[in-house]
Amino acid sequence: MEKLAVFGGKPVFEKKIGYGHQYIDDHDIKAVVDVLKSDYLTCGPKITEAENKLCEITGAKYAVLIANGTAALHACIFAAGIGAGDEVITTPITFAASANCALYLGAKPVFADIDPSTYNIDPDSIEKCITDKTKAVVAVDYTGQAVQLDRIREICDRHGLILIEDAAHSLGTKYKGKPVGSIADMTEFSFHPVKTCTAGEGGAITTNNEELYKRLVLFRTHGITRAQDMMNKPSEGVWYYQQIALGYNYRMTDMQAALLSSQLDKLELFGNRRKELVKHYDDAFTEMPEITIQEEIAESDTVRHLYVIQLNLEMLNCSRKEIFDALLAEGVGVNVHYIPLYSFPYYQSLGYKMGTCPNAEKLYERIISIPLYYSLSDDEQNKVVAAIRKVLDYYKK
Ligand SMILES: *Cc1c(COP(=O)(O)O)cnc(C)c1O
Repeated sequence: MEKLAVFGGKPVFEKKIGYGHQYIDDHDIKAVVDVLKSDYLTCGPKITEAENKLCEITGAKYAVLIANGTAALHACIFAAGIGAGDEVITTPITFAASANCALYLGAKPVFADIDPSTYNIDPDSIEKCITDKTKAVVAVDYTGQAVQLDRIREICDRHGLILIEDAAHSLGTKYKGKPVGSIADMTEFSFHPVKTCTAGEGGAITTNNEELYKRLVLFRTHGITRAQDMMNKPSEGVWYYQQIALGYNYRMTDMQAALLSSQLDKLELFGNRRKELVKHYDDAFTEMPEITIQEEIAESDTVRHLYVIQLNLEMLNCSRKEIFDALLAEGVGVNVHYIPLYSFPYYQSLGYKMGTCPNAEKLYERIISIPLYYSLSDDEQNKVVAAIRKVLDYYKK
């Protein structure tokens, strides 16, 4: 048997690769430089341009570009009119922002469990978490796969809840042929460099609801408006504006918007390559009984942001940590998405208890995210698979 790199053997990759990486071409660079030579570094035409492209891609009526995905979720909770005493249901297998956004406005995140095969929030568990304080569901398209939008929509409608889709992972994904971004009441996107399209930092919300759209725009700029129909008295002149709510400066710059706009032109290219890579991984891991892959619902045509393998620990002589460390030593960029949010000290200090979501806690013990990004070559991908095979051969019972 080949000696593992973690024990001093020769690593599969001489130079370590990451689990995600942005892809920037000359078109992207020119787009940013052009803005720097223009009149507007912020609040300029690139914002509207990228917003229009997002509307085209998602089929939504309105898009609001914002500083980052976290700000986008914060804005959604504000626009939904959620505040102290309200409850918001979400999944614990997500990035912190999906739940923190409720806390920002004094509301309480309530964690529903996941489906053990798709890893997305389980609609039955959502239903069990609903109380008379529940105001919204933040449903996360984990790894890019759409949640069961029909069922969740039906539950939300029956209980009068706002459906916020956290689509930070799922730009380009379609549910029953409809693009993510046009289905929930509000859909949030992130353009962090590991996501499918990047703005450096950036986020957006799409919606079909004009009232929500107006509140999102208000929140992005301090709660300040120049719209006469939103003011409580006639304008005093062209300089005049009113602050009618408490918002933030959550604007995106035009440099970022130009980068995003240029990246959005490549979304189909990025999406197709990601699908190809996912298919290749799926085929390879079907041959490895020590690994379970994420199941997909037929309704989701997925542009995957993350590729997550689940280790069948019963078949291995070790825990997830040994496999993770061994892969890292082989030069494979690995990560874990995610640590159940309520297990963090901050959430524990708020009184959240371990054991709340058994499926989520069990999944966390077994998962590893492996490299998935547009510029990952076939050769690199084959080496990732070879490294995983090498490590599993060493640790299998
Ligand atoms: C990346 C991410 C966010 C937040 O996005 P930022 O742009 O980093 O603020 C929110 N939710 C999920 C699931 C994410 O992965």
